[in-house]
Amino acid sequence: MTKIAVAIDGPAAAGKSTVAKKVAEIKGYTYIDTGAMYRAFTWYCLEKGIDCQDEAACVALITKVNIELKPNHVVICNGKDVSREIREPRVSSQVSYIASYKDIRLALVELQRKMADTDSVIMDGRDIGTYVLPNADVKIFQIASVETRAVRRYEENISKGIQCTLEEIDADVRKRDYIDSHREFAPLKAAPDSVLLDTSYMTVDEVVQNVIDIIDAKIEEKEKRA
Ligand code: C5P
Repeated sequence: MTKIAVAIDGPAAAGKSTVAKKVAEIKGYTYIDTGAMYRAFTWYCLEKGIDCQDEAACVALITKVNIELKPNHVVICNGKDVSREIREPRVSSQVSYIASYKDIRLALVELQRKMADTDSVIMDGRDIGTYVLPNADVKIFQIASVETRAVRRYEENISKGIQCTLEEIDADVRKRDYIDSHREFAPLKAAPDSVLLDTSYMTVDEVVQNVIDIIDAKIEEKEKRA
């Protein structure tokens, strides 16, 4: 099978992980949720009572943490299953501060690149096409209006039993987008060679099919060249 790396970047709650999971299932690729890694480290800092805006204190903890992404989207931090905790608003509201610290990014990016070394992967995040996997075969920049994204994330949280209000989610999404796109190191931006997918008026299945078509065209091209 042709080895493929797919990067899906875009702003918060654009549906990247929903699409990436489905594409990974259909194509048999390994799905790597890089946001979950930043979230797990944020959860750890909060557990330790660290102020997430204190860069030095957060960076000092990075060598103490072991983050693992397991099958079925289970996230383990130092042996504990934190899959649910990392989606809570207290983590969402702090994660973008943590993700703006260069030393933390360097450590997590090293892990992400190792994961993509051997398997065909689909990786979602903010800097995958621009920084983590600049040679990815397929780069998608997935967007949707901020209102659509806030409603989608609100409904997702409610269905998972995570208490929140739509206003809170709307504010969180806007704040994260601002911090993520204005940080100095590896900010959120579309790679020049990415395909822009506006999903505001598309169903999940339509987006998945679009991404698969783009991947299949790339595989065909790669195989012809080989
Ligand atoms: O993807 P998700 O929304 O779960 O990511 C949570 C946060 O992690 C983002 O708002 C961003 O601050 C950070 N992140 C990042 N780079 C990535 C993935 C996520 O900075 N590659």
